[in-house]
Amino acid sequence: MTNVAILGASGSIGTQTLEVIETLPDVRVAGLTVHTNTKVLEAQVRKFHPDCVCVADEARAADFRVRVADTGVKVLSGPEGVEEIAALPQADIVVTAMVGIAGLRPTVRAIKAGKRIALANKETLVTAGPLVMALAKEYGAVILPVDSEHSAVFQCLQSRAGGEERVKQILLTASGGPFFGKTRAELAAVTRGQALRHPNWDMGAKITVDSATMMNKGLEVIEASHLFGVPVDDVHVVVHRQSVVHSMVAFSDNAVLAQMGVPDMKLPIQYALTYPDRRPMAGNELDLAAYGSLTFEPPDLDTFGCLRLAYHAGRVGGSLPCVLNAANEVCVDWFLQEKIGFLEIEQLVEQQMAAHAVLPHPTLLDILELDNEVRQRMRRADR
Ligand code: MG
Repeated sequence: MTNVAILGASGSIGTQTLEVIETLPDVRVAGLTVHTNTKVLEAQVRKFHPDCVCVADEARAADFRVRVADTGVKVLSGPEGVEEIAALPQADIVVTAMVGIAGLRPTVRAIKAGKRIALANKETLVTAGPLVMALAKEYGAVILPVDSEHSAVFQCLQSRAGGEERVKQILLTASGGPFFGKTRAELAAVTRGQALRHPNWDMGAKITVDSATMMNKGLEVIEASHLFGVPVDDVHVVVHRQSVVHSMVAFSDNAVLAQMGVPDMKLPIQYALTYPDRRPMAGNELDLAAYGSLTFEPPDLDTFGCLRLAYHAGRVGGSLPCVLNAANEVCVDWFLQEKIGFLEIEQLVEQQMAAHAVLPHPTLLDILELDNEVRQRMRRADR
């Protein structure tokens, strides 16, 4: 029996992870955390019978404790509670599905507890890649990517039979989002509603806006470079509108391996939970003939400035990706509140990056402080 703890259980990846677990008889839920959504958590507690859960928002935890008193589940609260679930002794795998930098500390805690990490929180490697990868090595924690692109690369690398086989490039595919092909002038006028209509993937609001700006792909480039130990400039982005090829690896002899499948997060989630086994999965067969053709195009870095900024942050490294990420989170939040326009996202992120004096080797504390500093500075200047 594999015991799983899910951090961020009420979000898109969290709920899909539970749907996958329902189909796996040898996997059970040991712990769950949510930020505020106690309604969803209550239903999950009654269905999956975890040993222990945490409501990060203290104000909602007391009431929740009363509501689920009849189930016998242990209810923790606050960020410390989330970290306790990340290190839950009976958990074998920790799925880090929280959104944003809030995922960093609990992921570090899970790594130090030697857990197998099913990594679905991008910010962890974007903001603290070198630190987190070194810790994983030190504590022998295996990191299994859940993001579809990184899972695809990871799957392509499983072909290695122990011989010398050098990775030359990682080719991350990008759907291009809802605004692919638009001009800068058109982008200036796009609305929140349009940005939230993603052509292929059903995801949370933050990552859907990031897909529209292509910041999501930029964060994935930085993440892939840390996860697979490849320089940022050897991670290439290819726009592939159908989202059937989930990513590719080019080897030193120019052989390119691709992982394909229907655009459904349940496959990478299940693979991370059952690795190295592949299990049957209902209803996700790829019918290539139904697609007819697959297309590949270069990304437009002039129009989608966020991708260009992410490459720059990844190349410089140190504390700059943390600034990129924090400024982007604030901007996406403002865009969703309709306080700023679409192109202002990249303009404001660029401003914050330009004003930052880079720390080459930030500590975990430096990163958390810097993240907070950028947010506060931006909110003080808020119109
Ligand atoms: Mg992705």
